Amino acid sequence: MAKVFLDAGHGGKDPGALGNGLQEKDIALSVTLKVGNILANHGVTVGYSRTTDIFLELADRATRANNFGANVFVSVHCNAFSDTSAKGVETYSYPGSTTGANLSKSIQNNIIASGAYTVNRGTKTADFAVLRLTNMPAALVELAFITNAQDAAILISRQNDLAVAVSKGILNYLGIPYQGGGSTIYRVQVGAFSVKANADNLANELRGKGYSPIVVTVGGLYKVQVGAFSIRSNAEALANELKAKGYDAMIVTA
Ligand SMILES: [Zn+2]
Repeated sequence: MAKVFLDAGHGGKDPGALGNGLQEKDIALSVTLKVGNILANHGVTVGYSRTTDIFLELADRATRANNFGANVFVSVHCNAFSDTSAKGVETYSYPGSTTGANLSKSIQNNIIASGAYTVNRGTKTADFAVLRLTNMPAALVELAFITNAQDAAILISRQNDLAVAVSKGILNYLGIPYQGGGSTIYRVQVGAFSVKANADNLANELRGKGYSPIVVTVGGLYKVQVGAFSIRSNAEALANELKAKGYDAMIVTA
């Protein structure tokens, strides 16, 4: 079973690069979580340096990846430059690491194939701390320039394409066939209420049975949803499991 450690750049007090109303830490986290979801749906065990908006030192990120025993480490960032005309995608590996270079090429090539980029800046090497301190094949992808308007539009509207491309790059490197999914997220809905307390009660009941439900508000209703899958059959399996336990489970897309 392959293990991949995903590192969403920056976080918490460190917003990373800023531009076009965006913060690098938010884009990095959003794309990283989508990548993790796609990888998990391909049977990959995924570890994260962060899944929320928290600050972590660079060395801490590498230590967590090493302790996780990851086969692959990928850090997700956005680029920035004082000249706002600078744009495009580039992927880094550690100087002298052949496996890292292969991983970064696989990610870069899949982003180019996706079309979700403006300029192919190619693969490069750099002595970045997270690449130096991790003891497995490692790559750091700079998805696009947050400081460029055209690139910022990609970072806003094509996150699913970027996530699929990064995932394909990782899966190709690991020799795992890509099975689709990722642009649509399937969730299992087990109830919709006009009174929030009723939704909270159901969510608590599900938590007590080992599930991780969320309550979302849509159209004035409080909806209780479990799971988030990029492959529909995985959502169906969970829906069937919940139906067998007496819940009125249905699949919704988000
Ligand atoms: Zn960064």
